[in-house]
Amino acid sequence: MASEQTLDPQDWDQFALLAHRAVDDMLARHRSLREQPVWQDVPAPIRRDLDERVPMEGIGDEAAYEQFLCHVSPYPTGNLHPRFWGWVQSNGFPLANLADYLASGLNPHMAGFNDAPALVEKQVIDWMRQLMEFPEGASGLLLSGGSMANFTALVVARNEIAGYDVRADGVHSDIPFYVSAETHSWAKKSVEVLGLGSKSLRIVPANPDTTMSVGALGEMMRSEGRPGIVLATAGTVNIGATDDLEALADLCDEHGVWFHIDGAFGALAMISPRLRHIVKGLDRADSVAFDLHKWMYLPFEIACVLVRDGAAHQRAFSQRASYIEGLERGLIGDGLEFAELGLELTRGFKALKAWMAFKAYGISKFAALIEQNVEQAQYLMGVVEQQAELELAAPVPLNIVCFRYRGSNELNQELLLQLQERGIAAPSSTVLDGKFCIRVCFVNHRTQRQDIDLLIEKALEIGAELAANRL
Ligand SMILES: *Cc1c(COP(=O)(O)O)cnc(C)c1O
Repeated sequence: MASEQTLDPQDWDQFALLAHRAVDDMLARHRSLREQPVWQDVPAPIRRDLDERVPMEGIGDEAAYEQFLCHVSPYPTGNLHPRFWGWVQSNGFPLANLADYLASGLNPHMAGFNDAPALVEKQVIDWMRQLMEFPEGASGLLLSGGSMANFTALVVARNEIAGYDVRADGVHSDIPFYVSAETHSWAKKSVEVLGLGSKSLRIVPANPDTTMSVGALGEMMRSEGRPGIVLATAGTVNIGATDDLEALADLCDEHGVWFHIDGAFGALAMISPRLRHIVKGLDRADSVAFDLHKWMYLPFEIACVLVRDGAAHQRAFSQRASYIEGLERGLIGDGLEFAELGLELTRGFKALKAWMAFKAYGISKFAALIEQNVEQAQYLMGVVEQQAELELAAPVPLNIVCFRYRGSNELNQELLLQLQERGIAAPSSTVLDGKFCIRVCFVNHRTQRQDIDLLIEKALEIGAELAANRL
């Protein structure tokens, strides 16, 4: 019947040509990244084109793809590139890109139906549990990012620590959240959304290396005299510092305080035999959250939360309704397991890219890449220390180097902007002790020594130009 509609291709052979072309184009791009600029600003005409009226009539799939090629594809964030070191953004890699296509193609509903994709997600979560050395019986969930993974853990922690039925009664008391000045901004957002208010944040004084002072925290807990929640960090976003997790675990045990670790990237040090000493004590946390789209190099989005007490995790989110009740057999089997561990009901198959990549390359490959990134940070630190014009702005405990060109904040800001705008490299910035710093974060599996050498060469060149112009 000609009048019946669908979104499937009218001509499958024709569409297969387009699909293959799209794959070939993206692979060609990935093969030649080092020859491309790291980042380019979206030109004004393209910006204008990307602000158009609702397309009531279609232009066809080939034309839509052509528009992607000329309007979108040349102007992404730039984090594909070997010289992208801004914030904490990894590159992704072709096998995982392919897995995302396959996941979207299968399009399973990941609330926890009785199907193979659910078994794949359970498998990935269990691998993560083993790598983080959490006990059997711990539970976990894959989430869109570190913010959501941390938030999910805090819902569990809040409900367990409150001492009353938060789900029935709502929040009606303060809970102390112990954080440091270096705790990532998700924490403030989260306690606000959790109904506890940002006043519940207790900022624990820091040691000179920016980690939480365990002595000061102990005193705060004693004077508070009631349970609370510690938000420790493995790998701070500014300089990559890790709190003394072992000592914090002891303190939390002693005071009956929930021990949560934000290990967005730092937790992954656990998978490297050479680096795991940095996160010693991580396995003692009540909950830990970490990204797989940072230091496991997977494309956005994928993160993981683990909760030691799996029953507590389920108590926080479990919700039964007649239309999603388990039926023992059939599609809905034992109920919707993943929906009972977080806020989301419909979820995508983000587990597939992790499952395929870990099977294809093995965790040891990822451990070697993490070690390579740490060595790159050490190398850059050494080069900065050798250059009279440059100065190190902070210690380098992990994979982040903060440095400056000797001179004003204005000079350093202009230097950073020129590196980005000329497409040379993309570090980001931070301000440490009032000083504007260039911040280079290595979670990039494409970076090579030559890229770091180029960064230094250009930073010295541009810095000297700016200094000559008295910036
Ligand atoms: C990136 C980061 C987050 C937030 O994770 P998203 O994946 O961006 O939501 C939280 N904490 C730390 C330490 C981070 O580096």
